[in-house]
Order: sequence, then C-alpha cells, then structure tokens
Amino acid sequence: MLLQLVARLLWPARCAACNAFVPESTAFCENCALLVSELEQVCHGCGLPTSETDDGRSGSGRCHGCRAKPLPFSRVWPVLAYGGATTEAVLHLKHGRRRHLARPLGALLAPAVGAALDSGVNTLCPVPLHPRRLRQRGFNQALELLRVAERLSRRTATRPLLVPDGLRRIRDTPALGWESPASRRRIVAGAFSVKRPEWTKGRRILLVDDVMTTGATLAECTRVLLKAGAAEVQVVALARVV
Ligand SMILES: [Zn+2]
Ligand SMILES: [Zn+2]
Repeated sequence: MLLQLVARLLWPARCAACNAFVPESTAFCENCALLVSELEQVCHGCGLPTSETDDGRSGSGRCHGCRAKPLPFSRVWPVLAYGGATTEAVLHLKHGRRRHLARPLGALLAPAVGAALDSGVNTLCPVPLHPRRLRQRGFNQALELLRVAERLSRRTATRPLLVPDGLRRIRDTPALGWESPASRRRIVAGAFSVKRPEWTKGRRILLVDDVMTTGATLAECTRVLLKAGAAEVQVVALARVV
C-alpha cells in the first residue's frame, strides 16, 4: 500500500496519448478524451459502425456485407475507433516501452470482455506475436490488455480459462500497412498454429487483439481455432479501423 503510494507520487499517471498528468487509472486527459470515439452501434459480424437501416428487418445485427459473406468469428466487440488519441495510445503501448499503459487501456476493454463472457465465452486467448518480435518488445500487448480486462470484468466464481500461448505465430509476417484486404488474407494465411489442440476442443473462445484493421489476422486465427475443435470464436479489439 505504502509502496503504491510512493510509486504514485514518483510516477504519477499520464495521458496515454499526450503524456499530460491525469488522475490515477484514467487513460486519457480531458483534451485527448475529446479525440477518442467509442464504437457503439456496430455490426456484430465485422465491428464496423452500422445503422438500423443497414441492419434492415433481419434483426441479425449484421451489415449487408456480413450477411452476404460472413467472417468466421461469431461476434466482434470493438471498443474504440482507431484514429486520433486512440492511435497515439496504442502506438505508445506497443512501441514506446510504456507497458504500464496496459492498465488504463485494459480497463477500457473490460466491459467488452465482460459482455463476451456473459454471452457464454469460457476461454480467453490473445493474438500472439512472433517469438522474435516478442523478444524485441518484451511483452505481447494483447495479452497485457487481456489480463487487466479479465481481472476487472470478473463477475462470478468460475473464472474463464486464460490461455496466454494457446496460439503460436509460426511465420513472422511483415507489417500489413495499407495492403488490400485480399493481400492481407494471403499474407497471414498459414501464419498461425495451435500449440496443443487439446485446449481448444469444444471451448467457446474470445480472441483478443489491440487493433483490428480489416480483420484478416483475427479471421485467420479464428479459422485455425475452429479447425482445432473450438465450438465458437468471438473477437474483442481495443481499437477498430473504421
Ligand atoms: Zn492527453
Ligand atoms: Zn458487418
């Protein structure tokens, strides 16, 4: 307790985007918070903003695109729109050696993880980094976010199974940048494998990542998990490119 107090005095919390001082366990300062947009009404299939007219009378919660050609996961829970202060925060977490930002940012992810757990998910798994990248960075940001969100969204005595290294990235893929959706799919094909398939059998899995761009990486991970026997895969991402 005292140590925590001393740490707080020595290293007060700072805004994840602009580094201004903020109250403890707050991700963004007041100015940056204005540049953060939460995704509320989104398509359940792809996580993109959707309108009631788009959902039409189907009541499926899915956009036209997803009804015609669904992605392999059964539900997407995006939290923030990628851009502005959110992008800054994610980059600071990943590339700025600011691992501690996983705490306030993971807290933002907690309601989505809680909602997925309420919907029947019983297993949590992060999108993995390639071992070489993991060595460079020292941590997997998706796992860091997931650990915080899981702790904060805990509601019942039965805790979900957290499988930190359930998936392996067996091929280091280049940064996907502005590749087209089709070439993204090609680049990530065959890049993942399940370490020990026993853990996936019949499990309802929540796959967690920091950023969802087109969903190619998450879709590839989902296909691998379903092939390994998972009953269902849902997806949660801190930021969704919209
Ligand atoms: Zn700020
Ligand atoms: Zn959709």
